[in-house]
Formats: sequence, structure tokens, C-alpha cells
Amino acid sequence: MTITSVKRTHNFSAGPAALPLEVLEKAQRELVDFQSAGMSVMEMSHRSKEFSGVIESAEARARRLLNISDEYAVLFLQGGASLQFSMIPMNLCLPGKSVDVVNTGSWTKKAIKELNKIGESNIIASSEDKNFSYIPSLDQLNFNADASYSYITSNNTIAGTQWKEFPKTPTPLVADMSSDIVSRKINVNDFGIIFAGAQKNIGPSGVTLVIIRKDLLERADAALPTMLQYRTHVDNKSLYNTPPTFGIYMIDLVFEWLEAKGGLDAIEAINIQKAKRLYDAFDGEFYICPVAEGSRSDMNVVFRIQNNEELEAQFVKEATAAGLSGLKGHRSVGGLRASIYNACPEESVDALISFMKDFESRNR
Ligand SMILES: *Cc1c(COP(=O)(O)O)cnc(C)c1O
Repeated sequence: MTITSVKRTHNFSAGPAALPLEVLEKAQRELVDFQSAGMSVMEMSHRSKEFSGVIESAEARARRLLNISDEYAVLFLQGGASLQFSMIPMNLCLPGKSVDVVNTGSWTKKAIKELNKIGESNIIASSEDKNFSYIPSLDQLNFNADASYSYITSNNTIAGTQWKEFPKTPTPLVADMSSDIVSRKINVNDFGIIFAGAQKNIGPSGVTLVIIRKDLLERADAALPTMLQYRTHVDNKSLYNTPPTFGIYMIDLVFEWLEAKGGLDAIEAINIQKAKRLYDAFDGEFYICPVAEGSRSDMNVVFRIQNNEELEAQFVKEATAAGLSGLKGHRSVGGLRASIYNACPEESVDALISFMKDFESRNR
């Protein structure tokens, strides 16, 4: 039985999220016998020639997709995006210098909490005054030249906002791109560190992609725990200890799929269209989008139904029965959310829009 004979749901999960069906099917075909090795990729040494090929390919594809220069290292780490909240200040904080942060939501707040255990945060702007429903405008941001580094969350998975343009900062810009990595073109050279948990846009949970400018490796105190120093992982090409081999293999397949689709130019155009169709379906009376125009995420589309929690619960229940899953908003904010990452097909967005119209006609 192949996966295609199984009924697949329209999956709007925020994370772990949908993976491309072609990728799952290829992994299925290769599962019990990878490259004629007579074993799966999960069962072989991380130092085997087969797995070396996988991790080298995943890095090469990341470099091609994102146009990453030799001045940057590409790492596949563990501990999720959440461990980066600690590793970044441990490795990058300079004595007596605080960190400039733009606070745009729950994930930034968690990063600030960890940063404050190690160094000092300086919140130069925040959208908490309006429930994180917007991204502060670039001309209001005053980054300090004597900060250790600057920190932002490029896409706010829970609030449904996304930076459309990035600030030019006098200190290295660190960005949590967990929920929009490889969804659009970016200029990696504008950043000191980019990091992303894999489970939104590039693979299964258990791997974190870190792109780090090599000169920043010199900052960390050699007394830091070995596993928590970026230089350990750079010196050992992400193979200091056993890496999450299966997850890295899946990332390679997802990147292969992306390259075949035409890379970031192509996927960005598709993502903009998908998001636009969905936002256009909100009339502002029955379906309400709480996010400011100009800040709306192309990845996580957050909406309400007449601010009526009962109707929203009814919507989720009926949508699930109709084969549309994962539409409940994050438990901390309520409401509804459709996560439409790279792997969410256009047909799923269309199915959601027709369901929304039907639901509205029955409940108006
Ligand atoms: C999901 C998410 C995280 C947390 O990722 P983990 O891998 O679970 O630690 C952090 N930041 C953002 C923006 C996220 O969307």
C-alpha cells in the first residue's frame, strides 16, 4: 500500500506541520533499504559514506537555496529553536554590553527570558501594547551601536505577524526564522545568525538549522560547555556527537523538493498568493483578522469569527469532520489559525476557503 492510497487530511497544523507528500513517499520508498546499503538511513553510522553524502547534500542545498556565502557556517543541531534562546546569548554576549531586542510576541518573550539569565536585554521596541498584532515600523527602531547584538523573530507563529523588511542594524542581527525559513527570499548577509527549528517549514522536529557568520564564533568563552559552543559544531561539521540523522535526511529531501519547484523565487510567489486568497476571504464582519495590514504573516493566518468563542469551537469541530485539521488558534490566544507553510498545497487553501463560505452561509 502506498501513501497515496491513504486519505490525507488538509493539514493546517502550526508545528510539527505538513510535509510534502512527494517527500514522504520518497522516504517511504527508501526506508528499508537506503542507497542499496541493505539498511535504513536510521540504522547506519553517522560517519558512513552514505550519511556523509546526506549531510553534505543538505548543507549544499541550504547554501544554494538561501545563497549562503563561505563566510557563514551551516549547522544541524538539537535542542530545538528553544535551546538557541540560551546558546545565542551564551556565545554572543560581550561583557558589559546589552542586547537590543524588538519584542513581537510569545517566542520573543521566551527568548528574552533566557537571555536575561545570561546577559541583559534592552527592549528597543515592542508591539505588546496591541496584543502583538503588528510589527513596529522600521523608522521607529533605534538600534544601539554598542550592543552585543540585535534580536528579532522574523515570523510570529502565534500572533500571525511577519517582518516584511528587515532592519539594517549596527550590530549583528540574530533572527528566529523557525516559522518562515525558506518560505521567501532573504539576504543572509544582513544577519549574524539565522536559526530555525525544522518542524514548521523544513522537516520533522528534532533538528535545528543554524546559519552563523564565522567571525562570531570567536566570541564564546572556551569554558562554555562543549556542546553549547557553536565552534564545536562548526569544527566538527555538525558531527561532534551523533546528530539527528533521520531528520537531516528528511531536510535534504525537503530541500530537494524545493529546488525542483524552482527554489525560493517560486515558493515565495506561491506563498504570497496562498496567503492573499485567504486574507481576501475575510470580510471583516463574520471573519475578522486581528492583525494589522502590512504585518500579516504569509505563513500563519490568524482570524476570529465575530469574536464568538462558541462559533469558533463549532467551526473547528465541523472543519475537522470535513477533513480540515489544525485550525484551532494557539492555546495562549484562542481564536483560529491556519498555518500554510511551504508544504501546504494550494488545494488545501482552496478547500478551507470553500468551507469558510459554507460555514458562514449557515451561521451568519
Ligand atoms: C515553534 C517555534 C519555536 C520553538 O521551537 P522548538 O523547536 O519547539 O524549540 C521558536 N520560535 C518560533 C518562531 C517558533 O515558531
